[in-house]
Amino acid sequence: MTDKSSNPATALIQEQEALYRDYSFPEVQKWKARTGGLAIGFMPIQIPRELLHAMNVLPVGIVGAGDDIEIIRGDAYFQSYICHIPRSTIELGLNGSLDCLDGMIFPAICDVIRNLSGMWKLQFPDKFSWYLDVPQDFDPEIGGQFYRHELKEMAKELERRGARPLTDEALKASIEIYNKHRALVKELYDLRIKEPWKVPTAELYVLLRAGLVVPVEDAIQTMQRYLDLVRADETRKPMDQARVLLVGSFCEQPPLGLIRSLERAGCYIVDDDLVQVHRWIKHEIAPGDDPLGALVNAFLTDSVESPTRYIDEGERGQEIVKRTEDAVAEGVLFCAPSFCDPALLDQPMTVKAIEKAGIPWTAFKYSEDTGQFQVIREQAGTFADSIKLWSGV
Ligand code: SF4
Repeated sequence: MTDKSSNPATALIQEQEALYRDYSFPEVQKWKARTGGLAIGFMPIQIPRELLHAMNVLPVGIVGAGDDIEIIRGDAYFQSYICHIPRSTIELGLNGSLDCLDGMIFPAICDVIRNLSGMWKLQFPDKFSWYLDVPQDFDPEIGGQFYRHELKEMAKELERRGARPLTDEALKASIEIYNKHRALVKELYDLRIKEPWKVPTAELYVLLRAGLVVPVEDAIQTMQRYLDLVRADETRKPMDQARVLLVGSFCEQPPLGLIRSLERAGCYIVDDDLVQVHRWIKHEIAPGDDPLGALVNAFLTDSVESPTRYIDEGERGQEIVKRTEDAVAEGVLFCAPSFCDPALLDQPMTVKAIEKAGIPWTAFKYSEDTGQFQVIREQAGTFADSIKLWSGV
């Protein structure tokens, strides 16, 4: 265990790192004891947490187990050539770590998650296990109606299991709380664009990960505290690093050591896809008179561009170009999990768009339990150096 830092922001991050790596989920247990509510796990990357919150259900983000646990039984459930996150998630289920959860939600993002949801139902037949289908048609009369129906069905089943009935009033209040959370995440991302030395990505990542396993009200307080501390911290000084956009790491998360290695290699990561559930909806949601309709509409019209969503051929990659410009990034790092079909099949189309825009890029892959970063560090370092030497920015 690292000694507690004397820098208050760094010390806060150390606490948060211990929290997200604690697979006994202490804050979830405390919340359940205090409120008597249900705690439901969810897989990446898009879940309407507002709806759960309105029903007094604690949404708990489960993104595998990184490099923290040894896979003993999880490998037996999956073929070799797929990503790592389902193995470590099933391992967490089998070793009892997820016993404090009353169920799991599996959003429809790829076949691996679909298969995992089936396996979950077989392994844990008494628990709530929900495959949340999402539309790939964005017409409100088609995809909108479909998604609304899916959400209502899920709410009905949660209520049957003891959750509070869903009301418009409660949902409006929950949307407002998540709007506050979204605004703070955006503030952190904006500050990093402006002064990346104040908000290292390795720290931001820790905050976002810890935010998955605590009530949203606590995550808001922690982010606010961190923002206040780093804004006041005069010891954080700019360095001559290359500004890059990190894309592809939206589901299985890279180990923290990999992010630190990229930063040490000379990269300022000024925008990314990490822990994307916090930014899946890009702007504030106006709850209006029909808050469920507002949630559905936000999904249809204001979600991030993602390889897991249908996007017209001619438009693929345009949002990455725009994000590169908005973040004043000088290059793009494609950093995807090994065997992640959505990320890796999308990459050539995005590359086409960014090459057309004259943006330099490089690509590498990882697994959540990767322990060796030297090769990636050298590649990222060379990329950062070449940007600094030849980009003329
Ligand atoms: S890492 Fe990729 S392939 Fe694996 S579950 Fe996530 S989206 Fe699917």
